[in-house]
Amino acid sequence: MKILVFNSGSSSVKIRLFDMPEERLIASCQVEKIGQTDATFFHGKIEKVISAPDHTTAIAYICDHLNLSPNDIVAVGHRVVQGGEKFIEATPITPDIENEIDALKAFAPLHTPPNMAGIRAGQTIMPNATHVAVFDTAFHQTMPEHAYRYAIPTIYYTRDHIRRYGFHGTSHRYVSERATERLGHPFTGITCHLGNGCSITAIKNGQSVDTSMGFTPLEGVAMGTRSGDIDPAVVLNLAQQLGIKETDHLLNRESGLLGLSEKSNDLRELLASAHNGDAKSQLALNVFTYRITKYIGAYLAILGPIDGIIFTGGIGENSPDIRQQILTNLTHLGIHLDHTKNTSSIGQENTISTETSPIQIFVIPTDEERLIARQTYQLTDNAPTHS
Ligand code: ADP
Repeated sequence: MKILVFNSGSSSVKIRLFDMPEERLIASCQVEKIGQTDATFFHGKIEKVISAPDHTTAIAYICDHLNLSPNDIVAVGHRVVQGGEKFIEATPITPDIENEIDALKAFAPLHTPPNMAGIRAGQTIMPNATHVAVFDTAFHQTMPEHAYRYAIPTIYYTRDHIRRYGFHGTSHRYVSERATERLGHPFTGITCHLGNGCSITAIKNGQSVDTSMGFTPLEGVAMGTRSGDIDPAVVLNLAQQLGIKETDHLLNRESGLLGLSEKSNDLRELLASAHNGDAKSQLALNVFTYRITKYIGAYLAILGPIDGIIFTGGIGENSPDIRQQILTNLTHLGIHLDHTKNTSSIGQENTISTETSPIQIFVIPTDEERLIARQTYQLTDNAPTHS
């Protein structure tokens, strides 16, 4: 049984094809620069400029390339960034659900419109498939109210739904479930998703109880181009100087590692330039790791005893240097890194703490698409658990 997974961004669509229930990945393709004259299709070593004025033509091209007839596909899982308070789990898309997702675009103006474009394109091309929305926010809907509320007047929550939602939920959930499998009991601990976007989550018995991103992905640790936590008075000051639009751009696109280093948002480049003595790159790395360490400390305090800490995402999976910098000086809290295992664990699942470390440290490569395929499969008529 074939299931497609769509991840639709403003000018790109990434598609994975899985054979279920074995979760065998059959194909992984994407189209970038949708809507531009040089829209480009990628599949393995194939890279080709194509005509893709919109998401529908891009998706149709991929289906054609993979030789898929619409009836081959039983279901399509769509990554949806914002599910608000309404969506606490993966949900089959009906016209009403589609309207409810669309209505959330005020909260995620950059993400919801392309997510909707992917959903509509998928429905047009595969009208007989079950379409399922899998939300980045859903995993964090178990946060208690004291964790998700901002300390601002209540009316802005009750009327405008301004609260902390959290993101990267599918990734945090995927690695937490992998740890649960490894441990043989529901995971309690801290998951660090460190990529271009970064978020840290506190997990108790497999459920999110707090996370570093908030109303939008701008809150939390410093990221590739996002500032992360900042005194709101700084935002007011910047908005007075620059206006709202420019301030938004500055905090989301020009800050974080890029803003501090004045060089790059790419961690590999910063490691290299810091190694060559560039002080701004070194400062950017120091701010980055220091703030992650602070979140780990805070989450250790709210969780009590934990099983472990998980690193995932492009940086978390691949950078022993950054993992080490984050965890240096935490031995008094029971976190003992095995330096040999840390150095040799690049991009593959492994335990990188010492045998006797009270808190285990894991590297677990994330696979959001696999979890989306799994959750989508569970909502099809073929799934054994379907009722
Ligand atoms: P996204 O959030 O866009 O999915 P990724 O999870 O792919 O991003 O992470 C991108 C980040 O991972 C970049 O900062 C990149 O430099 C970093 N990265 C990728 N590979 C390595 C590596 N081998 N060593 C250090 N950093 C790496």
